[in-house]
Amino acid sequence: MDGHKVKGLVERLRDGEHVLIAEGYMFEFERRGYLQSGGNVPEVVLDYPDLVRNMHREFVHAGSDVVEAFTYYGHRTKLRDIGREDDLERLQKNALAIAREIADETGALMAGNLCGTGIYSADDKDSHATCREMFREQVVWAVEGNCDYIIAETFCNLGEALLALDIIKQYGHGVPAVITLTPYETNVTMDNVPFPEACKLLEDAGAEVVGLNCSRGPATMLPLLEDIRKVCKGPLAAVPVPYRTSSKNQTFFSYKDKETGKSLYPLDINCYMCNRSDVYAFAKKAKAIGIEYIGLCCGNASNLMRELAEAYDRKPPSSKYAPDLSKSIIFGEAGEKSNKQIDKIKKATVGEYVASELAKMHMGEM
Ligand SMILES: [Zn+2]
Repeated sequence: MDGHKVKGLVERLRDGEHVLIAEGYMFEFERRGYLQSGGNVPEVVLDYPDLVRNMHREFVHAGSDVVEAFTYYGHRTKLRDIGREDDLERLQKNALAIAREIADETGALMAGNLCGTGIYSADDKDSHATCREMFREQVVWAVEGNCDYIIAETFCNLGEALLALDIIKQYGHGVPAVITLTPYETNVTMDNVPFPEACKLLEDAGAEVVGLNCSRGPATMLPLLEDIRKVCKGPLAAVPVPYRTSSKNQTFFSYKDKETGKSLYPLDINCYMCNRSDVYAFAKKAKAIGIEYIGLCCGNASNLMRELAEAYDRKPPSSKYAPDLSKSIIFGEAGEKSNKQIDKIKKATVGEYVASELAKMHMGEM
């Protein structure tokens, strides 16, 4: 596996390069029918590994610099919940091996992944010990799986994020750590730390990249990122969900159906998705405020990822198929030709109609 070495995460960032990352595997596999909403466990890694390979390829094709092992929510408590705890190690190792394979094939970085455990409680010391053990086993597997760095993400408590970072530093054999927190309605973590301060504490504790992921869309994540930028000196990560969150609905969890009042998350939230132009505009703004590590979380799709990449002045392979509406049958030159054709048909029809009406009148006269 020695042949895989590409320029590392830290080296890229140190040289002023940006790092682009496609996330959102869970939502996308659910949309395609290979993952159960509610359970949210990446069983697809075991059940349909080729589909995972292909999605990794597709995201690199669309501009991702990173193949992230799909172990999100593939941790011990979640697998226990769906009665597949015995598959934990196999799932984790498979996901890492698949990610390594496709990263090698495409020349991308490979990231291991930890996420919020769902059992952390700030004042429950037992929960801290359980979290540490869950993180430890995953960090050991990620290092054995030859990851280039580890992403620990979707933490709503700073305390849990610090635990994850500590375990990566302890068991990660020096692999860099990208730690991202998840903001909900307010601008403080669940353990009551304002996000700029929380990110600074993670940076000071040795995280190579800090920032935010998930829950908020571009419109409500950007202002918070600007505040974080003021206090963090190192590389910042922005990985929002591509949904049109707003001051009234800070997160994609908050939307309700206007008629029924029923929560739209997670099954019916697609009516609030960002379009491509939203994503492009977001990425341009993020670049302008100095976001070095950028991606999209739940709701990501390859066409959105390409927008993000192009806003960061990239031309990924999928740019070959970027829109060119001058070729469109409706908007372009081809369209003009076909519109003339349509006009002709319309006129002919009108002509025929008038002729037939006249014929009827003449018949009446006779
Ligand atoms: Zn997400």
